[in-house]
Amino acid sequence: MKKLSFIERDLSVLWHPCTQMKDHESLPLIAIKKGEGIFIEDFEGNRYIDAISSWWVNLFGHCNPIINNAIKEQLDTLEHVMLGGFTHESAVVLSEKLLKVSPKGLSKCFYSDNGSSAVEIALKMSFQSWRNQGNTTKTKFVSLENSYHGETLGALAVSDVALYKQTFAPLLMDVITAPSPDCYHRELGESWKDYSVRQFAAMDKILKEQADEICAVIIEPLIQCAGNMRMYHPIYLTLLRAACNKYKIHLIADEVAVGFGRTGTLFGCEQGSISPDFLCVAKGLTGGYLPLAATLTTEAIYETFYDDYEKLTGFFHSHSYTGNALGCRAGIATLGIFQQQNIIEKNKPLAEAMRQATAHFVDHPNVSEVRQTGMVLAIEFVKNKQTREPFAWQERRGLKVYQYALTQGVLMRPIANVVYFIPPYVITESQIQYLAKVAWQGIQLAVKD
Ligand SMILES: *Cc1c(COP(=O)(O)O)cnc(C)c1O
Repeated sequence: MKKLSFIERDLSVLWHPCTQMKDHESLPLIAIKKGEGIFIEDFEGNRYIDAISSWWVNLFGHCNPIINNAIKEQLDTLEHVMLGGFTHESAVVLSEKLLKVSPKGLSKCFYSDNGSSAVEIALKMSFQSWRNQGNTTKTKFVSLENSYHGETLGALAVSDVALYKQTFAPLLMDVITAPSPDCYHRELGESWKDYSVRQFAAMDKILKEQADEICAVIIEPLIQCAGNMRMYHPIYLTLLRAACNKYKIHLIADEVAVGFGRTGTLFGCEQGSISPDFLCVAKGLTGGYLPLAATLTTEAIYETFYDDYEKLTGFFHSHSYTGNALGCRAGIATLGIFQQQNIIEKNKPLAEAMRQATAHFVDHPNVSEVRQTGMVLAIEFVKNKQTREPFAWQERRGLKVYQYALTQGVLMRPIANVVYFIPPYVITESQIQYLAKVAWQGIQLAVKD
């Protein structure tokens, strides 16, 4: 199969995600033939380091032998069975293992098949839980400025990234938006901690004044990933948890992107020493193999649904592929690798290597910030370093970094003008150094007139 004809056939039948399809008149699609470890390989034999884990999903490399074997085993036993009225071993085992490693207090798993659905489920459960308790005034959600929680209408409503949201604004429920603790905006000399504490005051005020109307607050712990990889201090989580307890408001932690080690701990919540009322996971749950998501919640919330059928307090929500056996088995294998290979510890020197390899970027005349939380490192470049004036978005300078990186054998896909690494954990220190070199050269090219 010739590459060209393959791509032509693609463009005649496929519509790609998050893409202005007209771009592909000049921006070639890349047809991938296979994956191996950190690399993906196209039909011409070009290999690319997957520096962004294929949209943040891959944890242990492509075609990981352990996960491959687990799925093959499951495939020959049971591919799928409906989870309404039925169950299977992999769904039970994954739930047990997932709850064991999750923040304490979470005791029930509800499965779906993507992060947006996991968020929708948390929102609906929170709302209905209050309703089941006779509280009908709580109908609103609070989310952060610059947040991202997915693309379906409910998840989009609690998001705040204009590019995705603006067009659909008339369709979306009303949400209360609180200022973000995003530390990019801190004053010169102000610490992440001080800024995050300061930003919490506005959140506290909202919760205090509108507690009667608010079901839940939804946040992305520590990193607003789709919101340009902006980061904040874990103290914000601690303060938010305390305030939610005080004002009787649920806390939804959307760890769809940051879960499974990205922040340096298995879950971001751990760094604020908190347990949410709902924990949403997806992306890394299957190691980047299969669409599976879960919404974890507490016994206390579960009990508000548990009653005689006629009371109609059950959670009447389902997806056809809820608890898919292949996905669950991949999830079990993924959690097994974390445990058996002590991944969280093993990642520490890799995170340090990422820091060292990019330390000199702060001296670049167009770099406004280099920031890092665990295994996520972001480099923001701007038009004017002093004023931090960004380049006009229409200039699409990040795209130039993407294109350059491809010529160097790296898949690096900046968000706006933020170049970031969120690599699979099988990356080596020398590959990290290479990424830094390519990022530097890419930025050099992108900032030229
Ligand atoms: C990607 C993402 C989602 C949506 O997950 P999908 O599987 O793409 O629907 C939700 N929340 C966060 C924080 C994400 O990064």
